[in-house]
Amino acid sequence: MENTNERVRCLIIGSGPAGFTAAIYASRANLSPVLYEGMQPGGQLTTTTEIENFPGYPEGIDGNQMMEDLRNQAKRFEADIRWGVATAADFSTKPYKVTFDGEKVIEADTVIIATGATAKYLGLPDEAKYAGMGVSACATCDGFFYRNKRVAVVGGGDTACEEAEYLSKLASKVYMIVRKNHLRASKIMQQRVLDNDKIEVLFEHETLGLFGENGVEGAKLIKRRGHSDEETVDIAIDGFFLAIGHKPNTDIFKDYIKLDEVGYILTEGTSARTNVPGVFAAGDVADPHYRQAVTAAASGCKAAIDAERYLIEIGE
Ligand code: NDP
Repeated sequence: MENTNERVRCLIIGSGPAGFTAAIYASRANLSPVLYEGMQPGGQLTTTTEIENFPGYPEGIDGNQMMEDLRNQAKRFEADIRWGVATAADFSTKPYKVTFDGEKVIEADTVIIATGATAKYLGLPDEAKYAGMGVSACATCDGFFYRNKRVAVVGGGDTACEEAEYLSKLASKVYMIVRKNHLRASKIMQQRVLDNDKIEVLFEHETLGLFGENGVEGAKLIKRRGHSDEETVDIAIDGFFLAIGHKPNTDIFKDYIKLDEVGYILTEGTSARTNVPGVFAAGDVADPHYRQAVTAAASGCKAAIDAERYLIEIGE
């Protein structure tokens, strides 16, 4: 049977700073990359407001605008940018095959996975209602807007402690909403949080909802749910930060690509190489530690350079 699949030299999956930066570098290296934007074109930055920590923007830049600029920069060098969500991958034989939207199959000599990670939310309707109006999953991105205000961080892991610490340098008061009677974070992080006068840990509390007229003004919590002394408590806050973990978007690759125990892609040393030759990873999908736009962009650059060198090595 005739093979009607499209064949490309470099396939990039994902459209955050990692994906677009990979596209800019791969285009300029004449790899004629094809980039599929995925479920959330522009990635996680499109859900934040102002980005003030990306070098080169002294006045800050709107998240959507920055992603539009990166997309246009990639297009300027003729990257082929398309709508579509990767739904299956087969890295068992070369060329590698990735299916988009359940039907279109692309065959690729190199693949750059830049599918990112998704912050977990509690699943409360109020999180959507107040999105961008007091609800955030990134203290480093949005903390600055809460100078001298009151905020809450949900979660009791290392991320929650780090976010609470970070926010305590800006906000007047930080609550941590922790569902158990102890923190899961490492001992050193726990100690820092417990020793911090600005942070109040609300153990055995869960969030029922948020309230406020033009943005978050408070949260309704339930203390010791299911116990005889269960009670509801309102706290006055301007910001509500989720820090209950991220989920890397790696489900369709897990049969071929080595992942850590949480599901992040493992790369070799300081390179973007995965365990499959010709398949590279960039951005949050391979980074549980930094998760910043600038580090994602840098790793997209590395992935494209690694892909170019791989093609030279195999003589393609
Ligand atoms: P974790 O999975 O370690 O912690 C998640 C926290 O959120 C837990 O306290 C958990 O509660 C809570 N949680 C989860 N779901 C809900 C829910 N539905 N309602 C309320 N609370 C909830 O995630 P992290 O992002 O903190 O860390 C991920 C990994 O990254 C860890 O291995 C961590 O050590 C590492 N890390 C390391 C850092 C460092 O070394 N500097 C910094 C940040 C992360 P419960 O405990 O009850 O399950």
